[in-house]
Amino acid sequence: MRISYTIDEARSALRELRADGRSVALVPTMGALHEGHLSLIRLAREAADAVVVSLFVNPTQFGPTEDFSAYPRTMEQDLAACEAEGVSLLFAPDAARMYAPDHSTYVTPESLDQVLCGASRPGHFRGVLTVVAKLFNIVQPDVAVFGEKDAQQLRLIERMVRDLDIPVQILRGPIVREADGLAISSRNRYLSSEERAEAVCLHQALESAQAAFRGGEQHVETLKGLMMNRISEAPHAELDYAEIVDDATLQPVRRIEVPALAAIAVRFSRARLIDNMVLVPD
Ligand code: AMP
Repeated sequence: MRISYTIDEARSALRELRADGRSVALVPTMGALHEGHLSLIRLAREAADAVVVSLFVNPTQFGPTEDFSAYPRTMEQDLAACEAEGVSLLFAPDAARMYAPDHSTYVTPESLDQVLCGASRPGHFRGVLTVVAKLFNIVQPDVAVFGEKDAQQLRLIERMVRDLDIPVQILRGPIVREADGLAISSRNRYLSSEERAEAVCLHQALESAQAAFRGGEQHVETLKGLMMNRISEAPHAELDYAEIVDDATLQPVRRIEVPALAAIAVRFSRARLIDNMVLVPD
């Protein structure tokens, strides 16, 4: 496995990787790799000849009061994990190499970002889209893989690729969960053992909405009520949002008549966790 710390090094490693017309799949990450990331790497390996993983804790997607400096950094383990998964190139730049001191050009979404995490984290998706566009330009992958865990991010990236005609195919990776249903996240390590036990409430809230929906309940207010009730049973959980929106437009819906995205964000003392499920009518 090659490791590149600069954009020039990555470009020259990529020229070699692409020899003989080999295809390249990119898996963008912020490191602290876990089974969720590894599942994306495995999808990438099936989709292309060579896999590039980027590992970059992107400062522009963190708000001023968020956990940028505390974000877990586990470079050595990440390196070993990528090696074991057959990754060809690990691209691990630092912020000074990714952003010129007078960087001033951003990709700003004009829709899909006013709701859910976009509403709670102003500027977050502008940072995400900007860095993903930069990574696409640096790596020029044939395929890029993103997890369904970050449902709004995935839809915004698909929209950016469509709107800006970026020549890359986006693959969606299913959410990988712990045995009790908690979606695996680098931020789960911030949870105390009490909070960890309670954190299953996100998945259980989504499951209760899904069960009612499958039982015939189509009214969003009722389904949202079920989700909020389940979250309120967890004493350390502070609800950020529990929403059900049109899966394609992320706009509010009153009844589920087309696929809908049920999405939840909950704060514990140090961790803000998200989860989601798509509800598809028959
Ligand atoms: P992050 O390192 O948190 O920025 O995540 C990098 C990629 O991994 C994103 O595309 C995430 O959606 C994806 N990801 C994170 N957690 C999971 C999970 N539990 N299952 C599937 N994909 C995930």
